This record gives sequence, structure tokens and C-alpha cells, in this order.
Amino acid sequence: MFETAGGLLSIDLSIIQANYRRLCDELNGKNCSVVVKADAYGLGIEPVSKALWEAGARTFFVALPDEGVELRHILPDADIHILGGLFKGSADVYTTHNLVPVLNSLEQIQDWQNRARADIQVDTGMTRLGIAPQDIGQIPSGLNTDVLMSHFACADERDHPLSIQQIETFTQAVQQIEHTRASLCNSAGIFLGEKAHFDLGRPGCSLYGINPTPHTTNPMQNPVHLQGKVIQVHEIDTQQSVGYGATYKLHAGQKLATIAVGYADGYLRSLSSKATVYVEGQAAQVIGRVSMDAIGIDVSGMKCEEGQYVDVIGPNNTPDDLAKWAGTIGYEILTSLGRRYKRIYKG
Ligand SMILES: *Cc1c(COP(=O)(O)O)cnc(C)c1O
Repeated sequence: MFETAGGLLSIDLSIIQANYRRLCDELNGKNCSVVVKADAYGLGIEPVSKALWEAGARTFFVALPDEGVELRHILPDADIHILGGLFKGSADVYTTHNLVPVLNSLEQIQDWQNRARADIQVDTGMTRLGIAPQDIGQIPSGLNTDVLMSHFACADERDHPLSIQQIETFTQAVQQIEHTRASLCNSAGIFLGEKAHFDLGRPGCSLYGINPTPHTTNPMQNPVHLQGKVIQVHEIDTQQSVGYGATYKLHAGQKLATIAVGYADGYLRSLSSKATVYVEGQAAQVIGRVSMDAIGIDVSGMKCEEGQYVDVIGPNNTPDDLAKWAGTIGYEILTSLGRRYKRIYKG
């Protein structure tokens, strides 16, 4: 196969569908919406949203009205909600494209003027978006509220006291504010058990394979496989350094391969000398600094040739593994995946 990209990024849509069904099972009969903001966490809003629709998802959340408009063209019949709220002066955009705003303040409720159904978010402890619990009494009556929601701050930490408190605060809001569906759980929240489920789950990262239970084995499967192209192999005969800053020394007898994936492709610079790549199943260390378009890997003693592909993300180096090596979270690895890869959708 003749390939001119530095990397082949393959995304298995049937795994994303299986993850959706796994989350539905965990919710045990409660409904499950899907969060496809930020281009479906970097994996491609169009193919991913269509696959999730096919798997039975009907309610979709994005962050921005712009993302909602894009999704409306992809899924004409979907129920689309905008987490970022009602952007000032743009109520007509929501109405034209049948987008449901999550009203995050009393002012937004006023600006919406009850045009059609809308969601209301109560801030139960995240202090990011939503109406403060002490202001609930000021919400006008007679609103057509669809989803009453809130968001966990620490659901990925087992038995965090703030999660228990957020469930209590949200339970009170559910009793005080009329609504059709109540929703509190992101991915990690779904794994806190039934008391956190209310009517509607709202997972994002877990659909895309990120572990929603970081303290234990990942119940989700990884749909992402990234292969990087070997563009040069160096047999080392005298000691020399690798890459910018000459941070790593190679010795005679070692072998280095240069791979056409770099920080401009979302392979974070903080992975320098930290990450592992797999060459036909054999672990090869990233050595020296990640540059814009390339990384160097130690392939001493391995069969490795120009033109070959190596696994940069795969079963043994998942987005969560890369995140751990880079000192970040899997979400950032996925949403950083670059635009230069040749993308292949499977399933
Ligand atoms: C992003 C987001 C989600 C999804 O969270 P995950 O941790 O990715 O499952 C759910 N609700 C809100 C309000 C969000 O911003």
C-alpha cells in the first residue's frame, strides 16, 4: 500500500458502539445520552455521531452552538443540547436549528423567554456552569424544562465526599424544579452506582475508551489505533546524541528509527524519553525530545525498516497510558490527535 501520510489513525466505530451498549447496561434501564463535543473528543463528530445514532443514541450533547449546528446537518432528527449555555444574542440560532440550550443562569432563562423546551443546570459543587442552589427559588414557574442537570467534579475518585454532597444537593433540586429528565452522571458518575443515575446518563470519554474508573481495570475498550511511519533507520557506530537539546546519548551498536509523528500531530512534547512504541509487538522506547514532525525510538536488536509502521497508540500504549507518561489525562491525548494523519474508520 502506497501511503503519503506520517501516520495512519484508525478508529473502530463498532468498538464505540459496544462501549455505548456497555454504558447502557451499567445504567440498567435508565436512558443514556452521548457527549460528542470537541469533534467527538477528537475522533470525528460525523462518523462517530452516525455510529452512535445507529447504536440507538437519540440525545446528543455538545459544548458550543457552532457544534450543534454542525451536528444538526449530520443528524437531522437528533435531540441536540448545548452544554455551554445560551450564548448572548444568539437565541435565533438555537431556534433555527432546533438546538436545546442548557440554561446556566437566571439571566439566560430570562433571555430564552421560554421559546421552546430548554434544559436547566444547577451548580452542585463544580463552580463552572449552572445556577447556584440558593437561587433556585428565583427560577420562574411554568418553564418548559426538559433536562435538569448538574455535573460531578470528582466522580473519578472513589468515595469522594464532594460526590456524595453533589448527589444530595442535586436530589433536592430535582424535587424543587419541574423537569422531564434529570441527569447528573458523566462517564465516571455512571460507575458510582444507581444513586447517581437519576433518569439520563451523559457519558463522553468512556465511549471513546478512556477509563471511567481509574482506580481499577478499564471496563471500556479502546477504539483508537495509531500507526506511525518509519522514515529513517540509523545504525550507530560511534557515540552520538539524539534530537534537539542532545538530551539522550546513543552508543555504538544501538539502532534508532525516526518516526513521522511529532508534537504538531498531538504527540505531546512531554512524552519525550517517556513513551513506548511497539514495533511488531516489541516495546521500543521513545528517546530524546519529541520534535514537531518526528520522534526517535530505540530499535536496537529489532527488525525495523524504512517504510514500516509502528504502533504509536494501540492495545499496549492506550491514550490513558500516553496520558500517564505525559502527566495529563486521556481526554487531552484524544482531543489533541492531529489533522495530518490519514484517518480510517472501521466497523
Ligand atoms: C464533557 C461533559 C460530560 C462528559 O464527561 P465525561 O467525563 O467525558 O464522560 C458530561 N457533562 C458535562 C456537563 C460535560 O461538560
